[in-house]
Amino acid sequence: PDATFMRMKEDAMNNGQTKPGYNLQISAENQFITDFALFPNPTDTLTLIPFFNSFLDRYGHLPSVAVADSGYGSEENYRFMDEAGMEAYVKYNRFHLEQRPRYKPNPFHHDNFHYNATEDYYVCPMGQHMTRIGTSHTKTASGYRSENARYRAHNCKGCPLRCMCYKAKGDRRIIEVNHRLNEYKHKARELLTSEEGIRHRGRRCIEPEAVFGQMKFNMAYRRFRHFGKDKVTMDFAFFAIAFNIKKMCSKIAKQTKNGGNTPHFGLFLHIYPILDSENRIFWTNPQKSVA
Ligand code: SF4
Repeated sequence: PDATFMRMKEDAMNNGQTKPGYNLQISAENQFITDFALFPNPTDTLTLIPFFNSFLDRYGHLPSVAVADSGYGSEENYRFMDEAGMEAYVKYNRFHLEQRPRYKPNPFHHDNFHYNATEDYYVCPMGQHMTRIGTSHTKTASGYRSENARYRAHNCKGCPLRCMCYKAKGDRRIIEVNHRLNEYKHKARELLTSEEGIRHRGRRCIEPEAVFGQMKFNMAYRRFRHFGKDKVTMDFAFFAIAFNIKKMCSKIAKQTKNGGNTPHFGLFLHIYPILDSENRIFWTNPQKSVA
């Protein structure tokens, strides 16, 4: 009952059929799984903050740098990362479009209007001032409240650009602007287009995506083998542990092949105490055996 019907990438019938599942989120560093969490909501936006909270529980601190794709670029998420002092290399929905060489900004979109921050007004393509008329609020599914400033043109009647400018009825165009989100987007754009940002963006597709690729195609782990969130969490926890050990072994093998030392002795020294303490917990309190 804690799973949700979702559209799956695997669609054998090719009819968009939904199936019960969980939204599995993972974080990865050097292709090691550093954390994971399962969510009932199919979209990624609302999973970021609970995921970071789970990371905090696991490690006692938050990561100093976060790299994520545009599915996570919401005001709420940017704010969380900003207040936690994290460097957020997180794309927003139009970032890819803006980076295309042939991208031409739409002159009628309010993002491209001139804004006078001192006197708080916008200037439309016809040069009319759009003055502030109030503030509206929206609430996300998680309860986060966004603030949108509303601006209105003085008179659009008879404007030769009217047909290209807006479709709504009425002779005074109204725009709504989320200034806070715009600031976060501006900051994210600067970070993402910096030298460090380009490096992180390049690595993003070979970090979690490579883990999912190995998991789903090389290891054929495409389905959970249990029902219920607790059991599925245990299922994936074992998988993640095995995945990381396998990764570590292949790294050691590669290192050895390239002339490095063989750290077999060190490897076992590290693994043994973990197994030992896990076993003790298991035998004294079987309920704690769920990872
Ligand atoms: S329709 Fe109104 S808002 Fe649009 S360009 Fe003309 S005067 Fe400006």
